[in-house]
Amino acid sequence: MAYSNPNYEHLKGAYLFAEVAKRSTQYKQAHPDRRVISLGIGDVTLPLAPAVVDAMHKAVDDMARKESLYGYGPYEGYDFLLEQIVEHDYKARGVTLDKSEIFVSDGAKSDTGNIGDIFCTRNSVLIADPAYPVYIDTNVMSGRSVTLLPCTEENGFVPVPPKESYGLVYLCSPNNPTGAVMNKEQLAAWVSYAKQHGAVLLFDGAYEAFIRDPALPRSIYEVEGAKEVAIEFRSYSKTAGFTGVRCGYTVIPKELTLTGEGGPMNANRLWLRRQSTKYNGTSYITQRGAKAVYDAEGSRQVKANIDFYLENAAIIKKGLDDRGIHCIGGANSPYIWLKCPDGLSSWDFFDRLLDECNVIGTPGEGFGECGKGWFRLTGFGSREDTLEAVSRLNRLK
Ligand SMILES: *Cc1c(COP(=O)(O)O)cnc(C)c1O
Repeated sequence: MAYSNPNYEHLKGAYLFAEVAKRSTQYKQAHPDRRVISLGIGDVTLPLAPAVVDAMHKAVDDMARKESLYGYGPYEGYDFLLEQIVEHDYKARGVTLDKSEIFVSDGAKSDTGNIGDIFCTRNSVLIADPAYPVYIDTNVMSGRSVTLLPCTEENGFVPVPPKESYGLVYLCSPNNPTGAVMNKEQLAAWVSYAKQHGAVLLFDGAYEAFIRDPALPRSIYEVEGAKEVAIEFRSYSKTAGFTGVRCGYTVIPKELTLTGEGGPMNANRLWLRRQSTKYNGTSYITQRGAKAVYDAEGSRQVKANIDFYLENAAIIKKGLDDRGIHCIGGANSPYIWLKCPDGLSSWDFFDRLLDECNVIGTPGEGFGECGKGWFRLTGFGSREDTLEAVSRLNRLK
């Protein structure tokens, strides 16, 4: 007999995007004459930067020749990419890391989902609500008890450390779905919480490249002492349009020590052991593409793409402000998080926006209890659609 993992029976149905798709399709079928615009997109829409495409083409040519074929690569990633990460993502921000503290991967979803492998299932887990669903679901799959930390309008949707003690804490800044960005003091409060309680912070920085305010931290390691308590996840998905290419990395500083049964265990060593057992490395072609993101031309092109999404987000935010609809985000983030007007529920507002403006967004309650009555729009659309959608907000009754 083969028993299934009973933890999977405790997962909540992932019905958010399916339900959005269902309602949208029904509406379009009933009103074929209306042009429906989606501002619910959680994926990039601009093509890869030309410098990235060039680098990947060259890498394919390398693979086509016997003398320059790359087979299995290092589990942690190629030096040519690790060096760029150390130099540009960290040293430039005053953070000193060693190459051996960085693990290149196929993206932040896998890493935020897999990191649980190195932690005991008895650890208690704290997750800021609303949240990227991966954090909750992967912990439920492995049978850990999860506590949700409410983030609300009152605290600007920024998680505040509780009094109670937890082993693992997931944080995401700039946040998906709320667009809230934590400042240095707010991050520092979590670092001191982690030190006080012996907790580990799992910091998702997938949207770091959208930060334009120089006063805001781009890495949790900009906070003094964070290396002893934090793991950081990064991704080229939103940074460089790699959602379909697949590349990211995870940072585990050497200072990070966990409590083992036979004494202290080094988290970096445990993750290397995990990766070398279950992962055979990110493709050479992909890593060549990622390296180009740091070259002079590549970094300019990638920044221009992010600027474009940020401008879209600013246009949406201004449109909402002009109509007196309260929202946060929309700066240093591609996401705009709005409070549904007239006390509407997330799904009632979804239906009204679709019916009256022919615009699709994402109901906030799909991201957790604290998303009830809130709604997510994104800057990932085209300029034309973004402007058109904003002008249609006037039709809201
Ligand atoms: C998009 C996103 C990621 C990135 O996932 P990849 O697997 O690297 O594409 C990670 N975290 C959050 C919160 C995201 O929205």
